[in-house]
Amino acid sequence: MGGVKDVPPPPPWIGSAEEVPGYQRRVKVVPPPPPWLGSAEEVPGYQRRRFIHRHYRLEPPRLCHFYRCHNELGNMWTHVAALGFTLMRFASWWVQVPSHSDLVWPGPLYAFGVAAFFVSSLFVFSVSIQYHWRYCSGEREFNGWLCLDLAGCFMTLFIGFAAGIPMGFHCFPHLQKVYLTQAGVICAAMLAALVLERKRGEKVITVLGWGGISAVVPAIHFLAISEVGRNRIGLRLLLVVLCGVVAFLIYTKLWPECYAPGSFDLWGHSHQLWHIFIFLAIAQYNEALIDIFNLTASAEFCLG
Ligand SMILES: [Zn+2]
Repeated sequence: MGGVKDVPPPPPWIGSAEEVPGYQRRVKVVPPPPPWLGSAEEVPGYQRRRFIHRHYRLEPPRLCHFYRCHNELGNMWTHVAALGFTLMRFASWWVQVPSHSDLVWPGPLYAFGVAAFFVSSLFVFSVSIQYHWRYCSGEREFNGWLCLDLAGCFMTLFIGFAAGIPMGFHCFPHLQKVYLTQAGVICAAMLAALVLERKRGEKVITVLGWGGISAVVPAIHFLAISEVGRNRIGLRLLLVVLCGVVAFLIYTKLWPECYAPGSFDLWGHSHQLWHIFIFLAIAQYNEALIDIFNLTASAEFCLG
């Protein structure tokens, strides 16, 4: 008839765990995970993260993964927020930057450098959102987005050197050449690591991290020789270095999940913290570039 088999109700003296006081319950009630989520053992090796045990997606990327809970959701939204903030800051700077004809050479080149760093930041955040969303896709697609993500990180570092060094050493042309040569060698080493080890993301990020940390040398030299620059962007540059080093340590040491495997599966694991600190470093560097760009147009810069 209806096809539904009648199930006799339980006797009135037997009930579920929710119906008895807490101290009488023998079994902890844990709701089962939704069928599209699983443990690390249920996904291919390339999708596993060390010390992250649960909430892996067992289905290909879907739009609903932008609002349903899983272990890449925090990684996606930390960079959605970074993308939105950077886009607004870029727009607010762009509308007030003097037009090309009002800038004295090399002002237009410096303005292009500031804009290029904004664009590369926007690119790397956009690609990263896609990469983390597509983390549960097939191996070929996964590797393609991993390569693009790493290439975006390299491009941001490369443009960071190319935009910052000429402006920072605007009054010292010989130091411009010295530090641009040093940055060129470091970027060549980073590019080699990217090409040779493109399927081993952690190894490439470690090389890129050391390449980024090498910027401490020209940064400290700049702060030592330019009093005007030190007063204007000294604190910002120190924050860039601090956030960059903290991000690098968290990423390589897998803090905090290495101390409590399985406890940070959804929120607070190292990759989310890495995203937050890298965004803070990039945002501070964007502000430092804007400040130093304004300084290069003023007469006081080369006096102190
Ligand atoms: Zn990431």
